[in-house]
Amino acid sequence: MNLFAGQIFALFLLFVVFTPLERTFALHKDKKVFRKGFATDVLHILFNRFIVDLAGFLVIVTLAVSMTLYSSQLLRDLVASQPIWLQFIEAVATANIFGYFAHRLTHSVPLLWRFHAIHHSSENLDWLAAARTHPIDQIFSRAMIFVPLFLLGFTQEVFGAYLIVAVLHGVFLHSNVRFKFKFLRGIVATPHYHHWHHSNHPEAANKNFAGQFPILDLLFGTYYFPEEKTPHIYGVNERIPRGYLGQLKYPFSAGTQSGS
Ligand SMILES: [Zn+2]
Ligand SMILES: [Zn+2]
Repeated sequence: MNLFAGQIFALFLLFVVFTPLERTFALHKDKKVFRKGFATDVLHILFNRFIVDLAGFLVIVTLAVSMTLYSSQLLRDLVASQPIWLQFIEAVATANIFGYFAHRLTHSVPLLWRFHAIHHSSENLDWLAAARTHPIDQIFSRAMIFVPLFLLGFTQEVFGAYLIVAVLHGVFLHSNVRFKFKFLRGIVATPHYHHWHHSNHPEAANKNFAGQFPILDLLFGTYYFPEEKTPHIYGVNERIPRGYLGQLKYPFSAGTQSGS
């Protein structure tokens, strides 16, 4: 199966799983399946993969190889010699720590925010909105996570397993479902937790940066999880183009604003 057919198949599978789930357990019941921005997000899911895989691979390999000299071969051998399940747990923990700070940087450094603002521009949050991410934003966060994993010596299987879990969990975090999973509060990121990250309510600004483990937000003072309230305004204050190509070009245009 070629890559493009693979993306169409993934899109179809996700649509078939998440559409009935969201229709049955909707958080925002007025949100339509083919809502505003649907076509734009489909184009993100279909085309970003090629840009991110190719350019991301080049960036990550270049950075990792040039930094190998400063890392320890002994440590790499030690990490790679562990059982896969143990490496996986360690890789997820490492990825979360680096991912947390990378995500914070995308909100605080104006240049990075221009790219990350595309992901935050969705006004209707659902499973498909997870795909709306500027390729350079994705490459930045992948590099911030994968270069340390590479330098620490985690094996290829661990990288693959982490990527699959992170992508599927990431899609679920954006879905329009009303389960709050209160028993997981502060332990594992849930849709309720990540919806607050996307909300455009002032009290939730710059909160909930963790990918999988909100304990990082608890440790660094960025945790926000009002159990009974539900966010109802999403998006950003700046005007982001609605079309796919416009969103790709947006960070490069003059006059974009910073911060969220
Ligand atoms: Zn963000
Ligand atoms: Zn998100």
